[in-house]
Amino acid sequence: MFDYHIHTSLCKHAYGSMEEYIHMALKNGIEEICFTDHIPLPHKFDAGHRMDLSDIDTYLNDVEKCRQLFPEIKIFTGIEADYLEGYEEFLEGFLKQYSFDLVIMAIHFLKDWPEEFWVFNYDFPDKPIQDIYSDYFNAMKKGIETGFYQVVGHFDLIKRAGHPIMATNKTDVENIFQEILKRSMAIEINTSGLRKSINQTFPSMDIIELAVKRGVPVTLGSDAHKPDQVGFYFREILEKISSYENLYLYKIL
Ligand SMILES: [Zn+2]
Ligand SMILES: [Zn+2]
Repeated sequence: MFDYHIHTSLCKHAYGSMEEYIHMALKNGIEEICFTDHIPLPHKFDAGHRMDLSDIDTYLNDVEKCRQLFPEIKIFTGIEADYLEGYEEFLEGFLKQYSFDLVIMAIHFLKDWPEEFWVFNYDFPDKPIQDIYSDYFNAMKKGIETGFYQVVGHFDLIKRAGHPIMATNKTDVENIFQEILKRSMAIEINTSGLRKSINQTFPSMDIIELAVKRGVPVTLGSDAHKPDQVGFYFREILEKISSYENLYLYKIL
């Protein structure tokens, strides 16, 4: 078992010490974890939900210290990096400078949408849902094409408002899978949605099933913002997906 999506208190909306997250991983029989805290962005963009640029050295050093303290578990240093159109130059420089073990792509905001709209909090009364979702997937395609990322995080975060993706945007999903395959990337099964009112994984199981069918590798991430969320619901998910033919788990080498 592995958990490749874990936050730290440096992002200002997660709690507990790194050691506490690791203890929980050990308790749950998890053999590998990857810390993936939220990347800082320029111009203090959404600064309340991410690390400050000045925290990066602390972040890297703290993970390194944990590696020394807990040789019984593999600990990787990753980052959850927003893809936001217009920030490519910053992202490229930052990601090259630190060469993380894993870079998860996250789309929380879209360039042409009002800045206060998180992707799952949009409010476009006159826009068809299919077009709203297409905006999201178009940005995802651009993000994938940058080549900055190994994993697409919470693939259908936008559905948190409720409308199932596959009912309207199956073609977008299929196209994204092709882009992911072209770049040997993976998608994450993110269990944080099971802690929210939508009560579904990101992406939903129908999308995961299709991904596996198409040969897209998958990773597991709890998106833990508290220590007791590490490995959240993994046993149940692993049981479910282990029956899928062609299942290919993406591991950090
Ligand atoms: Zn977060
Ligand atoms: Zn996250």
